[in-house]
Amino acid sequence: MRSFCARFLIVLLAAALAGGTPALAEPIGSGIVEPIRHEVTGAGSGSFEALLKKHKVPPEIRDSVLRSFQLDPDFPRSLPKQSEFRLVYEELPPALKEGDPRLVLRSIWIRADGKLFDLYRYGWRGITPVYMNQNGRSLRELVFRLPVDDARLTSKFGWREHPILKKKKFHYGLDLAAPPGSPVRAAADGVVAMAGWNGNYGNYVRIDHGPHISTGYAHLSSIVTTLKEGTRVKQGDMIGFVGMTGLATGPHLCFQVLDGKKQLNPLSARPMIDEALIEQLATNPGRNLPIATIGDLQ
Ligand SMILES: [Zn+2]
Repeated sequence: MRSFCARFLIVLLAAALAGGTPALAEPIGSGIVEPIRHEVTGAGSGSFEALLKKHKVPPEIRDSVLRSFQLDPDFPRSLPKQSEFRLVYEELPPALKEGDPRLVLRSIWIRADGKLFDLYRYGWRGITPVYMNQNGRSLRELVFRLPVDDARLTSKFGWREHPILKKKKFHYGLDLAAPPGSPVRAAADGVVAMAGWNGNYGNYVRIDHGPHISTGYAHLSSIVTTLKEGTRVKQGDMIGFVGMTGLATGPHLCFQVLDGKKQLNPLSARPMIDEALIEQLATNPGRNLPIATIGDLQ
């Protein structure tokens, strides 16, 4: 099953735009250090990059903007006459860690030929933030990594006869068979929501990747000991080892993708973005609403 190896893509609407996690405003001494907000508006035509440069938008922010719209097939290569834009970015307090970005794009809209292109930053519990437009769509895709290298797919998502219970049961995951002890890795960046025994699932890890989307890893022989609820993980970090704890006939990983409590087919999952967020955006078309008022980066 070589074709099933390596990486497989699960297109999530959420996505990771480079830029890392900003340092949150931390109380220092008695005062609170607030980020400084900058707003830039302008109008023009032709190269969007040149227009941003002309308005003295810092290179990091220009880069974020241009990279984000790169994947929008409708975004004009050259801005038509009388295009307008407005962008908001923040200057964060001096980084606590070296390498943390100082400037962060919060929101941008561009009106070109009567068409609106927009983008808002949506951060969640400090993990890699995403940029989304008002329809809750991201312009980039999050790619899930297959959690076990060189695994064999032994059971798909769907109805099957349960190998132990011998009755028809819906299988809510992907079974990936691999030698016992093979490393199991986080499918994407996230925060550990559960790490421990979980009935028929045996040793189990759940990682949250956003307000709704999580992945589950069942039947592990053991869990990496440092992993606890609240631990942040990066895509590819080792979280445990293939085993057959709980209800399993042989060593395999049962890999699940969840949208809240609902289990999705990991091979075709198109999980939704936070419905509440989409609603807020839909009912508040004001371009002045930076997404951060909804996220927890405030
Ligand atoms: Zn399974």
